[in-house]
Amino acid sequence: AQERYASLRGLPAQSTCGSVTRLFMNAGLMADLPSLEGSGAEGVGLFRTELQFLVRNQMPKRDELAKLYARVMDAAKGRPVAFRTLDIGSDKVLPYMKPNDEPNPAMGWRAIRVGLDKPGVLRMQLQALIRAANGRDLTVMFPFISELGEFEQARSHLMRELHRERSLGHAVPASVKVGAMLETPSLAFAPQSFFELVDFVSIGGNDLKQFFFAADRENERVRRRYDVLNVSFLDFLRQIVARCTASGTPLSFCGEDAGRPVEALCFAALGIGTLSMRPASIGPVKALLRRVNLDEVRGVIDAARAAGAESVRPAVMDWLAGQVE
Ligand code: PEP
Ligand code: MG
Repeated sequence: AQERYASLRGLPAQSTCGSVTRLFMNAGLMADLPSLEGSGAEGVGLFRTELQFLVRNQMPKRDELAKLYARVMDAAKGRPVAFRTLDIGSDKVLPYMKPNDEPNPAMGWRAIRVGLDKPGVLRMQLQALIRAANGRDLTVMFPFISELGEFEQARSHLMRELHRERSLGHAVPASVKVGAMLETPSLAFAPQSFFELVDFVSIGGNDLKQFFFAADRENERVRRRYDVLNVSFLDFLRQIVARCTASGTPLSFCGEDAGRPVEALCFAALGIGTLSMRPASIGPVKALLRRVNLDEVRGVIDAARAAGAESVRPAVMDWLAGQVE
C-alpha cells in the first residue's frame, strides 16, 4: 500500500466527478516538515505553534521564534503554511506559566482568550511571524474564535504589528492572509460580516465535535461515543459550508477526522474543499477520493438522511462496498 500511495504523490485528489479536494498536512515541530515532500501535501494547513513553546523550559524570545518560523517557511519551499497562534490552556499547559486552576479548562481561559486578555505574548509571536516571512506570503490563523469581536481584535493586533514593522523600515510579508478556526458552534452563527472579513475559515473538528456533542475529547468514556457522520453534525457542517460559500470564503477542516478516509469523503462531498491531516493519512484519503464520484456520495448521504438514519456511516460503507475496484 505504501508504494501505491507513493505513486499518487504528485497527483491531485481528483474525484471521478472532476472535483478536486486540496490536501494539506498538520505539523507543529521542525521535525514534521520533511513529511511535506513524502506525503505530497500541498502545504501545512495547521501549524500548531504551541508545540514549540511546550518543548522548552522558558518562554522563547522573539528573535529565536522568528528564526524558527523562517526555517519552517524555508523547509516548506514556497508552499503555504498556516501558522496557528498559541493555543495554550486546556490540555496544553506551559511549564513556565502559572497554571490556572479551572474546573473546566477546555471551556476556560485558553487560546485566543489568553492572547486577547494578555496580548504581550501574542504580539511578540505576531512580530516573529512577520519578520520570518520577510517578503514571503504569510498565513496566520487564530484558534478558538467564538465571536466576530474576538476575530476583529485578534486581527487588529496583527494589523498593528504589520504597521509598526513597516514604519520601522523592517521587511514585511509580501501578502498576509488571516484566518479563524471554527471550534465553537457559536462562530457558525456569527454575523455575515465575520465571513466577509476573514480570509479563510478552518474547522477545528476536535474541539468543534466536543462542544457540539458536549463530549470531552480527553475522556475515554465519551470521546468516541458520538459519530461525526451523524446527520446532526453533517447538517451543521452544511450550514457552515453555505455561509462560507455565500461570502466566497475558503473553508478547510483540520481536525483528526479529516484524516479518516470515510469521514474525509463525506466532508468533501458536502463541499469542504480543503482537508488538513497528519501526513500519513494523505495517501489513504487521496486514494479513496480518486476512486469515487462525490456527487454520488452526496446522493447517498441525502438518501440516508431522508430515510431517517441517525448516522450516514452504514449507508456510505454499504455504498463503498458496492463500488468495483
Ligand atoms: C481541533 O480542535 O480540531 C484542532 C485542529 O486543534 P487542536 O486539536 O490542536 O485543538
Ligand atoms: Mg482545537
